[in-house]
Amino acid sequence: MLLLGNQVIKLSVEAQHALIETYSSQAVNPPPHARFCAKTPSCVITVYNSGKVMFQGRTAEQEAAKWGDAIQKTASVPKTTLPDGFSEWSVVGSDEVGKGDYFGPLVVVAAYVSSDNIELVKELGVKDSKLLSDTDIKRIARDLHVTIPYQKATLHNPMYNKMQRTMTQGKMTAIAHNAALSALLKKLDQKPDAILIDQFAEKNVYYRHLSAEAAVVKDDVFFSTKAEGLHVAVAAASILARAFFLKEMDRLSQTTGITLPKGAGAKVDEVAATIIKQHGIEKLNEIAKVHFANTKKAVRLSELKR
Ligand code: MN
Repeated sequence: MLLLGNQVIKLSVEAQHALIETYSSQAVNPPPHARFCAKTPSCVITVYNSGKVMFQGRTAEQEAAKWGDAIQKTASVPKTTLPDGFSEWSVVGSDEVGKGDYFGPLVVVAAYVSSDNIELVKELGVKDSKLLSDTDIKRIARDLHVTIPYQKATLHNPMYNKMQRTMTQGKMTAIAHNAALSALLKKLDQKPDAILIDQFAEKNVYYRHLSAEAAVVKDDVFFSTKAEGLHVAVAAASILARAFFLKEMDRLSQTTGITLPKGAGAKVDEVAATIIKQHGIEKLNEIAKVHFANTKKAVRLSELKR
């Protein structure tokens, strides 16, 4: 029997992004529930929507080991231990979407689910957004819209690209979370028991990013990875953010006249190259996160196509 290596590791969004860039020239169509797949002569690498990355084939172990650093950085259990009974508290949750996608905005949503509303929100089908199809996401978001208070903060591409000249993506993400949280807290007529941010940066780094902000939400704030599974408010925020992202992708696809793919793989390079040829490179500033490596690859492709 042929023994094939099969390695599964869990990577942070940043590490996934780096991996996708590395293998983008060998990208193939991803299977269901995966955002990226690449084939090297001796290994198939699949990045699942869950953040799990599977390496299959003769050199699976060696390939996976290249990303080994990231394995240790991202534990598969949540990083924070929350107080007992936290999942039943009245909580504001926040999460972002679009950080790893070349096309489309960065969207953060903060959503409030009071303890009285937890069962109702679960009843609407709210669970880990990574397990839901785009159709489910859109349907559940429509229900959430009329059920719970929430606030979104969207960094559209022109603004994102402008900010990116002077700050990291992590800092922009922190500013957007803080903006959504501040605005939502102002709207609420009761004070939540806690705020839970789906962790994308260490707590001290998050607050360092906000050092120049006028108002910073600090009281009763908890950070955890995999927070969608720890309180339904984060799951709801994630679904709303994803729905807004999808809506914006549809809108941008319409104005561009071409369906913009998610992620940052080879398909994205191809589409970006077509856009450069049809509309000129300036168009990318309106619809894409231009600092991603995809821009350079697309420019190269567009020159080859000439
Ligand atoms: Mn998140």
